[in-house]
Amino acid sequence: MTHRAYNFSAGPAMLPEPVLTKAAGEMLNYKGSGMSVMELSHRSGWFSEIMDDAQGLLRELMHIPDNYRVLFLQGGASLQFLMAPMNLMNDSKKMDYVNTGAWSKKAIAEAKKLGDVKVVADSSDKTFSYIPSIDPAEIRKDAAFIHFTFNNTIYGTRFTDLPQTNIPLITDMSSGILSEVIDVSDYGLIYAGAQKNIGPAGVTIVIVRDDLIGKKEHLPSMLDYKKYADNNSMFNTPPTYAIYMAKLVFEHLKEQGGVEAMEQVNREKARMVYDEIDNSKLFRAHVAGEKDRSLMNIPFFSDSEEINSRFLSEAENQGLLTLKGHRSVGGMRASIYNAMPLEGCRKLADFIKKFDAKNA
Ligand code: PMP
Repeated sequence: MTHRAYNFSAGPAMLPEPVLTKAAGEMLNYKGSGMSVMELSHRSGWFSEIMDDAQGLLRELMHIPDNYRVLFLQGGASLQFLMAPMNLMNDSKKMDYVNTGAWSKKAIAEAKKLGDVKVVADSSDKTFSYIPSIDPAEIRKDAAFIHFTFNNTIYGTRFTDLPQTNIPLITDMSSGILSEVIDVSDYGLIYAGAQKNIGPAGVTIVIVRDDLIGKKEHLPSMLDYKKYADNNSMFNTPPTYAIYMAKLVFEHLKEQGGVEAMEQVNREKARMVYDEIDNSKLFRAHVAGEKDRSLMNIPFFSDSEEINSRFLSEAENQGLLTLKGHRSVGGMRASIYNAMPLEGCRKLADFIKKFDAKNA
């Protein structure tokens, strides 16, 4: 391949080309240090600046209020399935969850190891193809929080209405962060792995309201948000290169007009792809209801396995890569995070149209 592919992977996923070019240019000698970023001490002035910039830019992009802490952790979103309840659980040990698919289930399984979990809404009856409505009466008043998966990477659904409650909301925003405008102050805690909309795998971002942390006395240090908050996320060696790449992505997003501009393009990109799926004879999207459709992950199928595999191999010949659906769902999935250019979505939409005309 002589040019960059349109990579529709669910994550690790595409990164903006200008970011990769910049990182390549700074690889051997970062700002006259004579070292690559990977070789810099995390206590050096160079790295402190990277860390402060990364945090400052994310605050700016997401309009994060001052009473929220931004933490850079490791362990992926999967560690947050455990760490969030461990830090935020109260004496009642009650925690409420919404089950919208595989990642919610994993979060629920970890919380069950710690306390009393109630699933207050569930969309398993229709293979997680919709967002269930949440009856506020189901949410327990003495629960410490309610947890939901903001964007369901595998099933392609996304929350647009938040649970109506006074207890803190925790959301797994791994595949939705920075893709659309949200109001951080609606949430108690937001967490996200980086490898979709932020940067390379290896760093996990936690945005947490100040008053929710530091209440537990005997947490293991590496699992205590307070330890990270008090040490500017450098209680131990942070994933320095992943944080540097995240900083470059944040700079790039800012140059592009921020999350507001990204959301507009993302809506346009998603519309192009859904339209051709909906207009085709061969294919249907897993999620029928427009309101619940993810802007980031679009699973779609034909009923014929033979058609699915021919579609995938012909797409690959066109430079449209990694469109195979998640192993639990099958068919195809187009993941179109911020770094997927509009042109990539147009090419995919055109390809769906032509393939359908030829084979239907
Ligand atoms: N939550 C969601 C919504 C995800 O999409 C993923 C990864 N695809 C995870 C959690 C797990 O993330 P990690 O591999 O970073 O632990």
